[in-house]
Amino acid sequence: MNIDAIVRDNVKKMFPYSSARDDFEGVLERDSIYLDANESPFDNGLNRYPDNKHIELKNLVSNIKNVNVNQLILGNGTDEILDLIVRVFCNPNQDKIITLPPTYGMYDVIAKTNGIENIEIQLKDDFSIDVNKILELNSPKTKILFLCSPNNPTGNSFDIKDLTDLINGFKGIVVVDEAYIDFSSKPSLISLINVSNNIIITQTMSKAYGMAGIRLGMGFSNEKIIHYLNKIKLPYNINILSERKALKELGKADEVKKNISLVLAQRKLLIPFLEKLDFIKKIYKSEANFLLIKVDNANRRYNQLLDKGIVVRDRSNEPLCKNCLRITIGTKNENNILIKTLNEL
Ligand SMILES: *Cc1c(COP(=O)(O)O)cnc(C)c1O
Repeated sequence: MNIDAIVRDNVKKMFPYSSARDDFEGVLERDSIYLDANESPFDNGLNRYPDNKHIELKNLVSNIKNVNVNQLILGNGTDEILDLIVRVFCNPNQDKIITLPPTYGMYDVIAKTNGIENIEIQLKDDFSIDVNKILELNSPKTKILFLCSPNNPTGNSFDIKDLTDLINGFKGIVVVDEAYIDFSSKPSLISLINVSNNIIITQTMSKAYGMAGIRLGMGFSNEKIIHYLNKIKLPYNINILSERKALKELGKADEVKKNISLVLAQRKLLIPFLEKLDFIKKIYKSEANFLLIKVDNANRRYNQLLDKGIVVRDRSNEPLCKNCLRITIGTKNENNILIKTLNEL
């Protein structure tokens, strides 16, 4: 696929913002006198602008994820990267994206914010993808297909053959949102960035890494796409506090692994307790850190739980999710209280 041909003209023609420090990067010494960026000279640990290329953090992430530094973009959460992707490829009031509801709500919000039509191709009843219906929509104006695997809120991972058929058959950019990949039994598709030049993988520190508060998302693709995304990103999108915290947390692989297995063990433990309750009609198979359950009356059960101080997510208004609640897997203690409370309803 010719990537340059589907990038917006204005993005191709523009010059990225050149910050004061870009001119000197790598040349100045640590004890140089910085009089170039109108910062405060009084050292309080945060008086300088962050590194707009995030070199230290990118080096670490590229090592952990086994990608080249030029195949990686960091964002203020995945949400920023998703927005950048739409803005690199989609011309307002002209181009379209495709999403597969029920799915993550931000794809639609980002499309609408940017004046882009969102074509929704609902998942099949078993939450699998209608591949043929999507490929029939191929046109120069359908620029991006958003796939979320494991999917939020359904919790399932998509069939690998469906995903590769779409990556091979879709004549635009295929984004695979892997926010929940660390909880999945299926492998990440990250290595496909070296095989197909139309794929972008996104991951996040918000879920398995336990760092939703620092807002750090990661995008992986080929150098050309990453170049365009970097070109339009705001220069200081990762702040110094987040960068420092991320550097620290990314080094704690063992702790993250331990937390993932605790969540997976809790997810497994919860299921038989939920199965025993007759107002719970169905527990969908989950590859993520939450369970989607169908109940007799979602609104009623939601409010009953709320009264007891337990907040879950009512997904009833999503297609295929009538009377469905999405319950995040909490700590052992939280889950015990959840079970006890559900038993008392
Ligand atoms: C939670 C979530 C994210 C994470 O977004 P951040 O901006 O990185 O916090 C991305 N995609 C999906 C589907 C999610 O559920």
